[in-house]
Amino acid sequence: MTEPDAGSDISRLATTATEVDGGYLLDGVKSFVSNGPDAGLYVTYATTDPDAGWFAATAFAVDRDTPGLEVGEPLEKAGLTACRASEVRFSRCFVPDDRVLGSPGQGQLVFRTSMRWERSCLFALYLGQQERLIRQCLRHVRQRDRSGRRLADHQPVTDRLADMRLRLESGRLLLYRACAEIDADRDPGLWVALAKLAVSEAALATALDASRIFGGRAFLAEYGIEEALRDAAPATTFSGTSDIQRQLIAGEMGL
Ligand SMILES: Cc1cc2nc3c(=O)[nH]c(=O)nc-3n(C[C@H](O)[C@H](O)[C@H](O)COP(=O)(O)OP(=O)(O)OC[C@H]3O[C@@H](n4cnc5c(N)ncnc54)[C@H](O)[C@@H]3O)c2cc1C
Repeated sequence: MTEPDAGSDISRLATTATEVDGGYLLDGVKSFVSNGPDAGLYVTYATTDPDAGWFAATAFAVDRDTPGLEVGEPLEKAGLTACRASEVRFSRCFVPDDRVLGSPGQGQLVFRTSMRWERSCLFALYLGQQERLIRQCLRHVRQRDRSGRRLADHQPVTDRLADMRLRLESGRLLLYRACAEIDADRDPGLWVALAKLAVSEAALATALDASRIFGGRAFLAEYGIEEALRDAAPATTFSGTSDIQRQLIAGEMGL
């Protein structure tokens, strides 16, 4: 979905899909395409009718070897390096009618539905990251001795670990609730936004807390803390920023 000039605001996509005999011609640039360098199939969104408001965009599934589709060089990212990303450019790229996802004009609906899965299930990985950091910190505060007192003997240190656990378990319960709403075929919008906001902010705060607990060692690659921080930092941005999740929550409350 994301383009150089469309991130949080996806109501006006510069990428266009022009109807031609038997399909569409796609033109435009998509940025921050996770797995872009490695994927064989791309799900993308383009404007088919700029005056149609909510129905302006259409979703497409485009094979990598389609003429007119060009994959950019892998971006040099600070974190999440196991998931490479790149630009994907379309230039008079012909996509047949049967590669439209849903119906023409349903792009926003397709996106909203897929985001509900992404903002809940994908973010479960950050529960795992927090569990790992908490385990690692517990080991460290029990072992590290400063002038005869372990780090675990200092209440500010143990308070920090209690807060880390609180954030983890609160986020986990919200994420399970979001998934339960999806499973029950109820509108999960509120719960998905609450879960995404809670889990991503918890991941970042907990990675920062772990770096405080590890002191100077946090900045040595061998402990994995600085890597966790770099991996957690974008969680509050991708799949919709924390600001956008707050707006969605306010909207669900009728504001
Ligand atoms: C690691 C990573 C992977 C990504 N993977 C993908 C991917 O696979 N596919 C994809 O489509 N995109 C992907 N993205 C892009 C991501 O979704 C966008 O970066 C994100 O939506 C924010 O858009 P932006 O960067 O244009 O920031 P902007 O929209 O320019 O926002 C900048 C700041 O302004 C705030 N802001 C903007 N508009 C508002 C508003 N209306 N109200 C309040 N605050 C606002 C934002 O919250 C943010 O803090 C990825 C990004 C990262 C970092």
